[in-house]
Amino acid sequence: MRLWEMRKLLLVWELLDHQEAIMLAGLAFKRKWQQKRKAEGKPFDKPNIVTGANVQVCREKFASYFEVELKEVKLREGYYVMDPEKAVEMVDENTICVAAILGSTLTGEFENVKQLNELLTLENKETGWDTPIHVDAASGGFIAPFLLPDLECDFRLPLVKSINVSSHKYGLVYAGVGWVVWRSKEDLPDELIFHINYLGSDQPAFTLNFSEGASKYAVELVLCLFQQLILLPYSFINIDICCKIALNKSYTMPTDVQHIALLRVVIREDFSRSLAERLVSDIERLKGNGCAPRPHYLV
Ligand SMILES: *Cc1c(COP(=O)(O)O)cnc(C)c1O
Repeated sequence: MRLWEMRKLLLVWELLDHQEAIMLAGLAFKRKWQQKRKAEGKPFDKPNIVTGANVQVCREKFASYFEVELKEVKLREGYYVMDPEKAVEMVDENTICVAAILGSTLTGEFENVKQLNELLTLENKETGWDTPIHVDAASGGFIAPFLLPDLECDFRLPLVKSINVSSHKYGLVYAGVGWVVWRSKEDLPDELIFHINYLGSDQPAFTLNFSEGASKYAVELVLCLFQQLILLPYSFINIDICCKIALNKSYTMPTDVQHIALLRVVIREDFSRSLAERLVSDIERLKGNGCAPRPHYLV
């Protein structure tokens, strides 16, 4: 989302360590859910979060550290992201949110947030719950708004209450920096905000760290402004994305599709013909070794 759109649209954002941002977004959902359950006189000791088994380790960490049961929608051969229908089937009264991923860490695919929003709206209507959606746009958040502006996967969908983005996946910032943005002030429980005045004025804070160097955030803000004011945002973002893309990763898939090993190939701007030829010959060699590589998803 471009900054000028963000200014109009959003009331609450935090520029943080990205993992911290993810923890805090989850904590806000947990606390909101607990408040509601307390007000209704219902038990509030068994929160769960629904997500695909393609989940990034940060969400497993959140579930463990903040004592929230992680309910994973299974993957199946040929379908490596969260199936919205199955996700909604797993939702119950203790679900703090469904976390969808824009840019699965495994394959880069986007989950269908729009369909999830539709199905969950129906489920909420039937049951009287109001289960919200979180969008983990760690890698997709800086792509979708520019390349796929009509893809509804953000605050255009009423159940989407918060979105996180990882800045450092696109370079030009220090490693680890990220954002979390909430739809409105109401989606961030007041009791989680601490007010300090160590520097002579009221400073609301929602962080896990206390004293911390600000340089990494300053660099990101300055670059964002620079990008806004001086460079054409589109060309800048495109170059930025391309420069970052340099990785070949291999890993086995999660439970249920563990027998599949994945080689992720991301092509960057300076990918040359000779590199392409080397890649093809490597793949051919794999075939010769009895492997049967199959392309799954190409951007
Ligand atoms: C990379 C990634 C994260 C974690 O991001 P970091 O900035 O590396 O901490 C979280 N979720 C998804 C889907 C990711 O791809």
